[in-house]
Amino acid sequence: MTTSQNDILFARAQKTTPGGVNSPVRAFRSVGGTPRFITRAEGPYFWDADGKRYIDYIGSWGPAIVGHAHPEVIKAVQDAAALGLSFGAPTEGEVLMAEEITRLVPSIEQVRLVSSGTEATMSALRLARGATGRDKIVKFEGCYHGHADSLLVKAGSGLLTFGNPTSAGVPEDFVKHTLVLDYNNVEQLKDAFDSFGSEIACVIVEPVAGNMNLVKATPAFLQAMRELCTQHGALLIFDEVMCGFRVALGGAQALYGIKPDLTALGKVIGGGMPVAAFGGSAALMQHMAPIGAVYQAGTLSGNPVAVAAGMTTLKLIQQPGFYQRLEASAKRLAEGLSAAAKEAGVTFCADYVGGMFGLYFSETPPTTYAEMMAGDRSKFNTFFHAMLDEGVYFAPAAFEAGFVSAQHDDAIIDATIDAARKVFATLK
Ligand code: PLP
Repeated sequence: MTTSQNDILFARAQKTTPGGVNSPVRAFRSVGGTPRFITRAEGPYFWDADGKRYIDYIGSWGPAIVGHAHPEVIKAVQDAAALGLSFGAPTEGEVLMAEEITRLVPSIEQVRLVSSGTEATMSALRLARGATGRDKIVKFEGCYHGHADSLLVKAGSGLLTFGNPTSAGVPEDFVKHTLVLDYNNVEQLKDAFDSFGSEIACVIVEPVAGNMNLVKATPAFLQAMRELCTQHGALLIFDEVMCGFRVALGGAQALYGIKPDLTALGKVIGGGMPVAAFGGSAALMQHMAPIGAVYQAGTLSGNPVAVAAGMTTLKLIQQPGFYQRLEASAKRLAEGLSAAAKEAGVTFCADYVGGMFGLYFSETPPTTYAEMMAGDRSKFNTFFHAMLDEGVYFAPAAFEAGFVSAQHDDAIIDATIDAARKVFATLK
């Protein structure tokens, strides 16, 4: 009989919650074993139900960029909560947040706050379709944009055929307008616009892909998307739910100097509370209700407590040198892990953009979904569990990017590399 509280909680959870979790990746299905039930978190660490401490490289899948339970964020949440949890009427906090986002993100003149990344991308798509009067959309294999029906789709069997649902319960009819192309494939994108240019409402993309491990968009790919969309009257949507305020202040669009028409944000802008957003030019955003014909709404949108956490996080990330330090930590980790693997003779590499990183059991970082899938997944799983035993928590799936926070200092990174050195020695 196990005495681990994680095992006991997981057994209990599975009786009342499908798979024991409220979001599938948390169930450890990809890596096997028992998910850790977390009791508290502070700075770069969290603790599980057995009291074991982990260096956390997930950061709640991105939001915890200033570290867990940052005293200023917690204080802002407590102060806001004391004034009431939700009003269903506008607040000054929402005005301040919109002013801050429009000031920081180059392409956003107006923004609408929502409560999840899924809502942000789903609403941006509806807006793109409403504003262009077109139905077809283009997405890329391996990019995840939340779980809206028309985005749960994989490539069809032929080139430039429309997609197949990746989830039961999504009617074929809902995805018949979604064309799924290969990430970083400029020629295929050109072909798609040659064939369907006048019908395409938008191209949606993660400009730094973080849902097929970390895969960087090439400058040529980003440029081609921008030019083809403009040429054919389609809108370019950057899904920066993950990379926004993560790879740079102002997101990937600031880092790469490419201006999308619409941007979806989430994660960091809520600082660990449910805030997400979508925005673009004032002219485009005028299509939204209550002034325009594209409907979208939310009982808890712009929630005052969540906005307080987000605004405080946005303030903290603007401290001088914040992103330089964040990227230096990701670089130290990526280079240190790569060197440790090399010493042990393990085929492995790592990469990073800003505060996001990827770990790959392959010779070189992947540039497409197919290359990513070709990595050694069973090695990753062994590595993952051995690191967990060492008190280091990486994403429980080979397909996910990792995140450092401002609290992952050199000593924490070096402790991680020391642990990995031991683990790599057993992996060869
Ligand atoms: N878009 C991207 C790029 C994401 O990484 C995610 C979530 O991981 C989403 C959208 C969906 O966000 P949420 O889980 O808040 O609905």
